[in-house]
Amino acid sequence: MSLLLKGNTGDWEMVIGLEVHAQVISQAKLFSGAATAFGAEPNTQVSLVDAAMPGMLPVINEIAVEQAVRTGLGLKAQINLVSVFDRKNYFYADLPQGYQISQFSQPIVGEGTIILDLAGGESREVGITRIHLEQDAGKSLHDQHPSNTYIDLNRSGVTLMEIVSEPDMRSSEEAGAYLRKLRSIMRYLGTCDGNMEQGSLRCDANISVRHPGDELGTRCEIKNVNSIRFVQQAIEYEARRQIELIEEGGVVDQETRLFDSGNGTTRTMRSKEEAHDYRYFPDPDLLPLEITQDFVEGIRASLPELPDAKKDRFMADYGLAVEDAGLLAAERVTADFYEEVAKGRDPKLACNWVTGELFGVLNKSGKSIEESPVSAATLGGLIDLINDGTLSGRLAKDVFEAMVESGKEAAVVVEEKGLKQVSDASAIEAEVDKVLQDNGDKVAEYKAGKDKLFGFFVGQVMKATCGKANPGVVNEVLKKKLGG
Ligand code: ADP
Ligand code: MG
Repeated sequence: MSLLLKGNTGDWEMVIGLEVHAQVISQAKLFSGAATAFGAEPNTQVSLVDAAMPGMLPVINEIAVEQAVRTGLGLKAQINLVSVFDRKNYFYADLPQGYQISQFSQPIVGEGTIILDLAGGESREVGITRIHLEQDAGKSLHDQHPSNTYIDLNRSGVTLMEIVSEPDMRSSEEAGAYLRKLRSIMRYLGTCDGNMEQGSLRCDANISVRHPGDELGTRCEIKNVNSIRFVQQAIEYEARRQIELIEEGGVVDQETRLFDSGNGTTRTMRSKEEAHDYRYFPDPDLLPLEITQDFVEGIRASLPELPDAKKDRFMADYGLAVEDAGLLAAERVTADFYEEVAKGRDPKLACNWVTGELFGVLNKSGKSIEESPVSAATLGGLIDLINDGTLSGRLAKDVFEAMVESGKEAAVVVEEKGLKQVSDASAIEAEVDKVLQDNGDKVAEYKAGKDKLFGFFVGQVMKATCGKANPGVVNEVLKKKLGG
């Protein structure tokens, strides 16, 4: 599939770099002990530091530092043992300090990489430029009163990691894959819950277009998009807009734009501010942040197996196809579920049942795997009944459906519904004889060379036995009787 877009002046290429704000999982804020739980009553989780009362001093939260380092290690990034907190000055009603404490010239994490899983099992590496720690701002509530805006400072001072990518992506699909993989890694690490609806993960998409081989074009930044689908839509729209603008003789202004999910378009928010507008300077209340190599190594030693490694292991140990392995490894709970089903069983059959039937049911009912109506052990029990010949694949699907509805074990459903597969050759022979007798004309046609009819006979026998006949035995008996 070509990633190029057609234009009147030839082919165009999108260039995309993403800035992701990820809320760090931590009980306390970056520089205060106030709580961070989502959904609390407004202004109930605000310390004097977060409200920027005069004379309050920030004190760094060690867990937040640990989480940033953990995320950096998960992205195979350079960890900087010395980093610096700066003040980024700007006025906003929900920013009582008048500045955000952030990291500018010396972030805690430097260059890393992330591997995108793309369609058809392909993969591609994208560079991470940096990760820095910073405070979140409060929230303006415009919908609580007809003429007043209210301010909720619960989020003020909450720890964010800003994760900046290199301009390495070339399509909206790659941007989607980047966000999915980043979210997956952070969930495995336990550093960000990745919940975009609750604002724990927000994305600014930078995008420009160029003819392949040209210098980078001027980019626009689309702010604060809160779903992966919207990020992709925004990118698609924005690339088209820029191409049309340039082809009509215009120039792209470097600016910040907003995505309108209502009509799928972007519009100007403000022309791009420059770093010097913020008058960054080192925060005089905070010493440079120094961490030791031992601290870093301690965190490294505690890292879990991450999705890329798990995917490779699933392919090597279980012989799974690349796409199945990636699908199962994307979430830790899914991977654990699969491994429990696969343990001591045919791993490919286990994969088919989890990614096929089970995911189908979960998707349809909008449930997560934690809420699955069928547990890993129960699904394993069903697969055992296929392996020992009690159930054919077809019957197993009926049994599975009943298990989903009733929550019962496979063996119980089989017993109650009398769904046991019939493998007894003499019982099947009787059914085969009847079918051949009833269809004498077709038997003659078959013998005259119409081989296709074999499937018809199999179907008739299965129908006559309500799907319970063992298809392997039916095939054998039919071949014998038809003299094949
Ligand atoms: P700033 O700090 O002003 O936002 P950066 O240089 O840090 O600027 O870049 C921010 C993001 O924009 C990065 O993710 C980067 O990859 C991306 N980016 C930079 N130049 C371009 C470009 N020409 N086209 C698309 N994205 C770009
Ligand atoms: Mg930026």
